[in-house]
Amino acid sequence: MANRRNFIKTTAIASVAVALNGFRGKTEEEEIVVPSGKVKTRATGERSGAKPIVLSTWNFGIPANNAAWEILKNNGRALDAVEAGVKIPEGDPNERSVGYGGRPDRDGRVTLDACIMDEFSNIGSVACLEHIKHPIMVARAVMEKTPHVMLVGEGALQFALSQGHKKENLLVEASEKEWKEWLKTSNYKPIANIENHDTIGMIALDVHGNLSGACTTSGMAYKMHGRIGDSPIIGAGLYVDNEIGAATATGHGEEVIRIAGCHLVVELMRQGKSPQKACEEAVARIVKLTKNRNKNLKDIQVGFIALNKKGEHGAYCVQGGFNYAKYDDTGNKLIDADYFLR
Ligand code: ASP
Repeated sequence: MANRRNFIKTTAIASVAVALNGFRGKTEEEEIVVPSGKVKTRATGERSGAKPIVLSTWNFGIPANNAAWEILKNNGRALDAVEAGVKIPEGDPNERSVGYGGRPDRDGRVTLDACIMDEFSNIGSVACLEHIKHPIMVARAVMEKTPHVMLVGEGALQFALSQGHKKENLLVEASEKEWKEWLKTSNYKPIANIENHDTIGMIALDVHGNLSGACTTSGMAYKMHGRIGDSPIIGAGLYVDNEIGAATATGHGEEVIRIAGCHLVVELMRQGKSPQKACEEAVARIVKLTKNRNKNLKDIQVGFIALNKKGEHGAYCVQGGFNYAKYDDTGNKLIDADYFLR
């Protein structure tokens, strides 16, 4: 097993290197030698003069961005900003699709999913976590304090308790009442833009030119117990590549997982696409697969937001109704994303 003190030392040196690199300008395209030849990893090159920017999904992105901006404007790290940002809706019992106050599964249990990714490609995730108000903090602790990247269910809860989190009842009265109403029909059919889900996904670029992201949700209301969506899955609900860009998703998680959505968006940016074009192409992939599978696109909503290393951003979704919040040096505002289904 790696010696923990050595690990911390290496990490500290790496942070300094990246922080310096942030001000050094160009990053080199790297060549990796494999048996069939050389593989080039495309670097975007622009690192100097980074201006902080943070993007997050839906209306609750506004208060979340405010918390993130406090850190970004004081030259803080994007990782700290995204964690602080998404904790706002997680802790708000009136936000009924994230954290405390989230709608339960069909057994009346509030099960939470979250993940986080930093500029070094460190990752941490929890899924189907019950009784803990801030799953994003637990995901970060998985990333920083364990040799693993993902903990689920009982194991995630055990770990959260070991980290000092308190066991709480997350099912608020309003959510319980709605669930009891739902039980009368017990019909699970998520309807696009009937907002009984919604995730906060947040991606940020800091003054050092570094990217990080966080994603947290209570998932689809009245899902089967044990159902996990895209939001805690690195590459699906969130992906960050500090050389290229970052992306996060919201909507029907099954569809996002099917195309490894956020990894796809980042890889499209690696190929030279703008964040906007990358989001559009990922949605186009969903459109195509939905048709191939003989499913109705009208029943599906997925939205992506993306940010590249230069601070350019984009967003696109299957159907109208998805918005996101952007905070940069021009202020914090909500933007309606463009969409495919007219
Ligand atoms: N993507 C989330 C899930 O499938 C829900 C949402 O963002 O609306 O769990």
